[in-house]
Amino acid sequence: MNYLPASDRYDNKIPYNRCGRSGLKLPAISLGLWHNFGGVDVMENGRAMLRYAFDHGVTHFDLANNYGPPPGSAEENFGVIMKKDFMPYRDELIISTKAGYLMWDGPYGEWGSRKYVLSSLDQSLKRMDLDYVDIFYSHRFDPETPLEETMGALDYAVRSGKALYAGISNYPKEATKEASRILKELGTPCLIHQAKYSMFERWVEDGLTDTLEEEGIGLIAFSPLAQGLLTDRYLHGIPEDSRAAKSWGFLQKDAVEPALEKVRKLNQLAEERGQSLAQMAIAWLLRDPRTTSVLIGSSSVKQLQNNLSALKNLEFSDSELKQIEKILK
Ligand code: NDP
Repeated sequence: MNYLPASDRYDNKIPYNRCGRSGLKLPAISLGLWHNFGGVDVMENGRAMLRYAFDHGVTHFDLANNYGPPPGSAEENFGVIMKKDFMPYRDELIISTKAGYLMWDGPYGEWGSRKYVLSSLDQSLKRMDLDYVDIFYSHRFDPETPLEETMGALDYAVRSGKALYAGISNYPKEATKEASRILKELGTPCLIHQAKYSMFERWVEDGLTDTLEEEGIGLIAFSPLAQGLLTDRYLHGIPEDSRAAKSWGFLQKDAVEPALEKVRKLNQLAEERGQSLAQMAIAWLLRDPRTTSVLIGSSSVKQLQNNLSALKNLEFSDSELKQIEKILK
C-alpha cells in the first residue's frame, strides 16, 4: 500500500534546531542507519522505523558508505525504501552520507584522498538512487592527506551539486579548526560536526563544543545511548537479539558488565524523573543548546517511540545534574 505520511507530522512533534550559524534546521532527534538497516536485517522493520520517524517529524536520516553489513547495504536498502515511500517527500528530508572508513580494496578505498572521497560519493548516490545528498561528511580525519585535499573534495561535492552541505566527523579539535578555516576560504562553510557524545563518552566537552560554537558549526551527537548501554536493555543480562549479542554488532559483550553499576544508578534516577534511561540520556545531551541534534539508533519502532518521548521532559534540576555527575565519576 502507498505510504501516506501523517498529516500532523509538523504539528509541534519535535523541535527543529538551527545547525550552527547556517540556514539549515535539524530535528532535535535524528535517526541513524548504522545498524538494523543492512543486508543482514529485516528490511520491513527498517522501513517501519523510517515511516514512524518521518510521521513524527524526524526529517533527518543519517547514512555512510560502509553501513550494513555488508558495507553499502544500508544505502541500498534505504534507496529501495526511498523509492517506495519517500520520493514524493524528498524536499522534506535531510539525507546524509559519509566517506572515510574502509570501503573497497586497494589504496583508494578509505581515508581522505580526493580520489577516494569523490568516488565514494558517486557510489553512495548510485546505491541510494539519489541525485544528491543533503550533507556529505568526511567520516574521519586522515593525518596523512593534506587537509586542503580532503576539504577541497567536500567543496567540489557541494559545487557539483552532489551534496548541499559539507560536514566532518570524528575530527579532533585542532583539525576541526583547520578544516573550518579551509572550508570558509573555499566558500563552502562546514555545516556540522558529527561526534560520539553521551554520558559515557564526553571528549567533545574538552574544547570541541567551544570550537564549534566559535566557528558557527553545528554538533550532532552520535551513539547517544552508548550503543544501547545507556538504556534498560542489559539490566537483566544480554538479550539474544541485542547488539552486544550479534556477531556483527559493534558493541562488545565484555563492555556490558563493567558499565552496569552506573547504568543501574542512572536507571533509577531516570525512573524518579518519570523517564526511561534512554530518554534521560537523550534529554541530557539536549541540555546544552549547542547540541543541534541527537543521532539515535533503534532496532524497533517501539524503541524509536520510546526515544522520541524523551522530548516530553528535557529539563534537569541542578540537583539531578549533580547526581548524574556523581554517578558518572
Ligand atoms: P545509540 O547509542 O542510540 O544506540 C542504538 C542502540 O541502542 C539500538 O540499536 C538498540 O540496540 C539500543 N536502543 C535504542 N533505543 C533503545 C531503547 N529505547 N531501549 C532499549 N534499547 C534501545 O546509537 P548508535 O550507536 O546506533 O548510533 C546512532 C547513529 O549514529 C548511527 O546509526 C549512525 O548514523 C551514527 N554513527 C556515526 C558514527 C561516526 O563515526 N560518524 C559512528 C557510529 C554511529 P539493540 O540493537 O540492542 O536493540
